Amino acid sequence: MNPQQKSTTRGNIYGPVPSRRLGFSLGIDIIPCKTCTFNCIYCQLGPTEKTTIQRRSYYSCSEILSQLKSILASRQRIDYITFSGSGEPTLNSILGKLIREIKKITAIPVAVLTNSSLISRKSVREALNAADLVVPSLDAATQNVFLLVNRPHSSLKAQKIIQGLIDFRKEFQGALWLEVMLVKGINDSPSHIQKLMEAIAKIKPEKVQLNTVIRPPAEKFARPLNLKELERIKNMIGTNCEIIADFEAKAQTPLSKDLGEAIFSMIRRRPVSLFDISASLGRNPNEILKYLNSLLKENKIKQILHKGVTYYEPK
Ligand code: SF4
Repeated sequence: MNPQQKSTTRGNIYGPVPSRRLGFSLGIDIIPCKTCTFNCIYCQLGPTEKTTIQRRSYYSCSEILSQLKSILASRQRIDYITFSGSGEPTLNSILGKLIREIKKITAIPVAVLTNSSLISRKSVREALNAADLVVPSLDAATQNVFLLVNRPHSSLKAQKIIQGLIDFRKEFQGALWLEVMLVKGINDSPSHIQKLMEAIAKIKPEKVQLNTVIRPPAEKFARPLNLKELERIKNMIGTNCEIIADFEAKAQTPLSKDLGEAIFSMIRRRPVSLFDISASLGRNPNEILKYLNSLLKENKIKQILHKGVTYYEPK
């Protein structure tokens, strides 16, 4: 067993967390933090120390399935099982096998959030084909902007990624929602938006979802667009384009497992606000606050203020 396999004992599954587009999403993280093909300026996980394009089997398929089975048995509300988390999920070479095995044990739809970097590879498209929903991102339509916003592994080319997305759309039977993360002054110029629109017209996703820098980014200079600016771009792209709306809290069955552990597990994955935790776990914010204060006192977490919202992250 290699060191990565040992780390599965901390659990590859987190949530369900409230997602702005997927409702209650049970996350499966099959990549050690932070392993990625990109080093995006807006990444909420911080910088990528060394980008990679090498696909590997990081964790044991049977162990992840056994973790999933025990969570499914707890009967929490789950709208999607989502591959996402500490890096780029298509870097895990067992992604396709895992999706196919999950579909044998549950009818809950499976989604994959990917940065699209490896989608020009046939093996990656075959893995993604097993999902119900794929949410690829495309932030750049030219190599120059690609280098600025995603800071990719040196072998990756924006045009090859766009062609991979076009090919995948033709093969894939499920839903394809393309996410575009817009960063002020980096990829939001009218000429670049025009090029993105040309790429989108060829890819033909069901939806285009505009996002901007909401959570604390890897680089302070990665700044968000305001709503008016997003609306303008949305109107340019057309009727299948939406701005990802703020998540509205829905009723959630309270968890039965240890609440402190569940809260810490969420914080370990990404910066979260009190609202995020409260909505995800179906608990009163005052109750959550007690646990947060105790984790703060134990020096396990810290709080940071970003755009007027307090987020909690590991120390
Ligand atoms: S935002 Fe996603 S694609 Fe970009 S560096 Fe972070 S994990 Fe990788």
